[in-house]
Amino acid sequence: MEASFVINKVNNINEVDITADDRRPGLLLSLLKCKCPRCRRGDMFENKNPYVLRKTMKMSRECAVCKQPFNIEVGFYYGSSYVSYAVTVALSVATFVAWWILIGFSLQDNRFFYWMVFNSVLLIAAQPYLMRLARTGWLAFFVRYDKNWRTPPTVQLERLNEEQEKNW
Ligand SMILES: [Zn+2]
Repeated sequence: MEASFVINKVNNINEVDITADDRRPGLLLSLLKCKCPRCRRGDMFENKNPYVLRKTMKMSRECAVCKQPFNIEVGFYYGSSYVSYAVTVALSVATFVAWWILIGFSLQDNRFFYWMVFNSVLLIAAQPYLMRLARTGWLAFFVRYDKNWRTPPTVQLERLNEEQEKNW
């Protein structure tokens, strides 16, 4: 009885439906949807649509659901370029393989060149979303899923800095 009271109280603070269940949302889908890595429920970015370019990189200060701070230190997101690079390479490999299977490559014609043009256009068009994905992925390196996400992180920041000192 006491426990349900606590959950109801938390539920009133957040407008997000957290009564659903305690199952951990999948990592890949949470990343792709740019969700907070700690609760995998709150949104990292204020505007859901990354193609509203003025607001593409506009992040909330902290997660609306679990209060995880998103900017955990000055210049934190410089490191997201590593993720951006990895995603770009992975996407290019994927389109290369898909092109190879569906269209094929030959030294006799320009199909390799066409793939390069196609891939470049795709990467440029996807850029606003990929930039968000890179930030989400970068934060997820440092902030793990917390099954007690209903409780705001208290010592989280200090612990995170220690972890980073080992990583840099
Ligand atoms: Zn969160």
